[in-house]
Amino acid sequence: MPRLVFLGSGSIIPSKTRFSSGILVQTKRSENILMDIGPGVIEKLRRLNLDVTAISYVLVTHLHVDHVCDLLPLLKILGLLGGHVEIYGPPGIRVFLDLLTSDRRLFGYLSDLRCRSVMRVRELWRDSVELKPGIALRTTPVDHFHGIAFRLELEGVSITYSGDSAPDPRLIDLARGTDVLIHECSFPASRLKGKHTSAEDLLRLASEIKPKILILTHLYPEMEEALPSYLRIFSEKLACRIYAPKDLDVIDV
Ligand SMILES: [Zn+2]
Ligand SMILES: [Zn+2]
Repeated sequence: MPRLVFLGSGSIIPSKTRFSSGILVQTKRSENILMDIGPGVIEKLRRLNLDVTAISYVLVTHLHVDHVCDLLPLLKILGLLGGHVEIYGPPGIRVFLDLLTSDRRLFGYLSDLRCRSVMRVRELWRDSVELKPGIALRTTPVDHFHGIAFRLELEGVSITYSGDSAPDPRLIDLARGTDVLIHECSFPASRLKGKHTSAEDLLRLASEIKPKILILTHLYPEMEEALPSYLRIFSEKLACRIYAPKDLDVIDV
């Protein structure tokens, strides 16, 4: 049974209990798969006494600051301590990393520290791949600045993660029949900004997808304020287990 560790369950605006995105999937066989790696994620791993070098896979939904910023520190740590990471992300992630870490680029000194040889980068869009035997990954583009969503199948459980997205039928297709739906829930509808999903939208999506477990994430402070009343409505209207984890919360799924 996989375990989900919520390293970052909020937005780029820090609140008392939430900050930028990062969800660690730990399998029973001690595989560590990190979905998004926003600022603060490595610090949260440290606080939980989890070994950064034990992360084998980083799945990046899109190249926004609150989802990708701790990638550079991770590469430097692996360069210094040794280790290897496979990075999966949307088209553009290879150029993004080249611009940052190649010789004579922005952080070109990292190439002298072996930081480029610790990673293997693979770009995904509408794809289906095997991370390793027994761990399958499917992806779809979603409505958010060239972003993708992930569906992992491992140890008999399916886990779908929206990343950032406005409500998107492609995400509904990806998530159909999923055991666990981790979906962004950025704002109440009355305060919705940008290409995001409101709590009202998410209620509609979850009614259609019918996951066994629904997990709300990427909450802006406005959403956190309104959370208790929305959780009451969600639990009245949906038959599934519902969670809205704070940073450092753990859920066994
Ligand atoms: Zn974003
Ligand atoms: Zn975001």
